[in-house]
Amino acid sequence: MGRFDEDRLDMIALLREKGIADERVIGAMSRVDRHRFVPEPFTSRAYEDSALPIGKGQTISQPYTVAFMTAALGAGSGEKILEVGTGSGYQAAVLAELGARVFSIERNLELLAAARKVLDRLHYRVATRGGDGTVGWSEFAPFDGIIVTAGAPDVPGPLLRQLKDGGKLVVPVGTLSRQSLIVVTRSGEHFDRREVEGFKFVPLIGKMGWQ
Ligand code: SAM
Repeated sequence: MGRFDEDRLDMIALLREKGIADERVIGAMSRVDRHRFVPEPFTSRAYEDSALPIGKGQTISQPYTVAFMTAALGAGSGEKILEVGTGSGYQAAVLAELGARVFSIERNLELLAAARKVLDRLHYRVATRGGDGTVGWSEFAPFDGIIVTAGAPDVPGPLLRQLKDGGKLVVPVGTLSRQSLIVVTRSGEHFDRREVEGFKFVPLIGKMGWQ
């Protein structure tokens, strides 16, 4: 076993204890080396169930949050998924492990460059772009699913319009200090909105986000 294998098994056991029951998500998170996405000096804490700093005032999300949101998105193999907020690249890698075709946007170009390096080194095929993800990625729309990994003041309208019929958008919405996770399912021109759980995210900054 490698240095981090035991820690990763402990993290997976904890996710199960906390109620993550989606075996596809559990499988994907068992296969992704989270420690590769966490910068020094936090690498030794990579499998703790906590968010950790990745620089530029940003964080890699807590494993429980990644598991919960990924399960809520329900990304199937071969599905086209847009992620807003690449950050470290970890969530994108988990989606790629599920067999999804991942498109990910990050507004901070230095974070994006670092994530790109790790994703390439680990051979994850993820398309990335620098810029404001609140307006989506129209060239590749529509998407089977969209996951926003930063807290928004409201559900960004352009993202709803870039969902396929039957597609799902998972986005934390609320104030700067507290958000609820919103899952929107598109059915034609009807958008069914469900609120699932309270989380704390860094802010989504952009045209349809915080200014
Ligand atoms: N998914 C990331 C991971 O697995 O490491 C965690 C992302 S972190 C909690 C949120 C990220 O969203 C930050 O890197 C931040 O720069 C980015 N962000 C904030 N507003 C954004 C926007 N409008 N478009 C794209 N990225 C944005």
